[in-house]
Amino acid sequence: MASNGKAAAPRVLVVDDELDTRDACQHILTRGGYPVFTAARGEEALQILETQPIAIVLLDLKMPGLSGMEVLRRIRQLGDSILVIVITGYATVEMAIEAMKAGAYDFIAKPFEPDALRIVIRRAHEKIRLTEEAGELDRERRRTLTDLITEKSRTRTLIDSLPTGVVATNADGMVVLVNPSLFRHLGQVSERPPGDPIDRYVADEGFCDLVRQIARGRYASSDEVPAFEFSPFEGKHLLARGRPIIGENGDGLGAVMTVSDISAIRAMDRVKSEFVAEASHELRSPLSTIHEQLALVIRDISEGNFTGDLPILNRALEKTHELISLVGDLLDLSRIESKSASLKPKPLCLDEALKNIVGFLGVNAQKRGQRLSLELPETPLPRILADPFAVESVFGNLITNALKYTQDGGRIQVRVRLREGKVEVAVIDNGMGIEQKDLARIFDRFYRVKNEKTRWIPGTGLGLPIVKELVALLGGTIHVDSEPGRGSTFSVQLPSHPPA
Ligand code: ADP
Repeated sequence: MASNGKAAAPRVLVVDDELDTRDACQHILTRGGYPVFTAARGEEALQILETQPIAIVLLDLKMPGLSGMEVLRRIRQLGDSILVIVITGYATVEMAIEAMKAGAYDFIAKPFEPDALRIVIRRAHEKIRLTEEAGELDRERRRTLTDLITEKSRTRTLIDSLPTGVVATNADGMVVLVNPSLFRHLGQVSERPPGDPIDRYVADEGFCDLVRQIARGRYASSDEVPAFEFSPFEGKHLLARGRPIIGENGDGLGAVMTVSDISAIRAMDRVKSEFVAEASHELRSPLSTIHEQLALVIRDISEGNFTGDLPILNRALEKTHELISLVGDLLDLSRIESKSASLKPKPLCLDEALKNIVGFLGVNAQKRGQRLSLELPETPLPRILADPFAVESVFGNLITNALKYTQDGGRIQVRVRLREGKVEVAVIDNGMGIEQKDLARIFDRFYRVKNEKTRWIPGTGLGLPIVKELVALLGGTIHVDSEPGRGSTFSVQLPSHPPA
């Protein structure tokens, strides 16, 4: 490359009708390290120029045939890159000037000393070197500029694609950059281009105040990342965090803010605190009953009167039993919901599992004169891919409920069918049924139907929420049909395990 200073010497074409001049030039220039071509006439010179990358032409103006001026004109038509040095023999200075005007780079008067030729060629050579260097610099500059533009647009694309809202302002709080996520979080359909004060973009005074403070360099000297939470509309919670933009000399140039959507986290927090409130409530009433009962027994003991205490202690025992099962259900539910209960699905014979559950619970049914039956299809059931404990918990809960909420002597059927490649298990009872208004809520935590019939039936209100979570984890669905006074049907659809 020309810019490394070790570039090949430029090729020189000597055009002169005098052999002596041509030879002399060739001799001097070859010794100077230049590749030299010669031509005795203009036409010949133009032919050489067509085939050789000539950089410098030494051109005699006075030649027979095509004149030197004409050759010069043709060379100029080829472009600017070839430097022409005219040789003015007996011609006048005016001719040299005219040639310069026509685009010659330099001239040398004939006869010339070898040194004069060397000087004029070296000057042209230097000019070529400088031109090439400038060209290389220019290319380099363009490359860097293109890189910079590509880099900038890449960064811009990244910022625009961030799920987090981003807005930057100058020191006066005027927006200089804003990405689409910010508008989305704010629930705005149309985007406002940068250039306006921050409060035209975000209609929250607290947020805008913080931005202005940061922009004025308030947090510049600390590592603190100020944060601000606000709600642009009902149900939407946003968390803004910001930092000042600091210039090279330490000046505060503005503020850059990120705005993230924390609505889901806030909703979760609310559900959690509601849950804690509900759970505390559910735990408190049996605990206060136990407390009162124990206080009675202690009073009796202290008065030396034990006679009537056994039934009280028995009731307290029952209550502790209820509490233990409530806490057990709560733990199950929280483990299932937090997915920390590790389900270990394996291919499972559902009919076997159901036979076991029905066999086990059938003992309770018999005590109350209830008929509990299991109906299996004639064709063998495909295996399902499921965790055996989850299956046991789902159908154990549903059948226990059916028994609980059905009168003595009632009938409970567990019917298994194959439907559209899925296994459907329906737990059907002819018990008390569920009213429409309660149906939508029975899968809520702690929800229990409260009426005269259910009053004395123990329960935690956590069985169906556990069933619902587990069925979802098994990849299935559940739905209920019920009619008050006639009975209920809980149907669970589970995907069958594809045959290996
Ligand atoms: P519980 O511990 O109260 O049984 P569940 O979450 O299992 O809690 O059930 C919630 C409520 O749904 C019950 O309190 C009951 O009123 C109603 N329920 C559940 N299964 C049946 C059923 N088979 N028949 C009538 N009511 C039912």
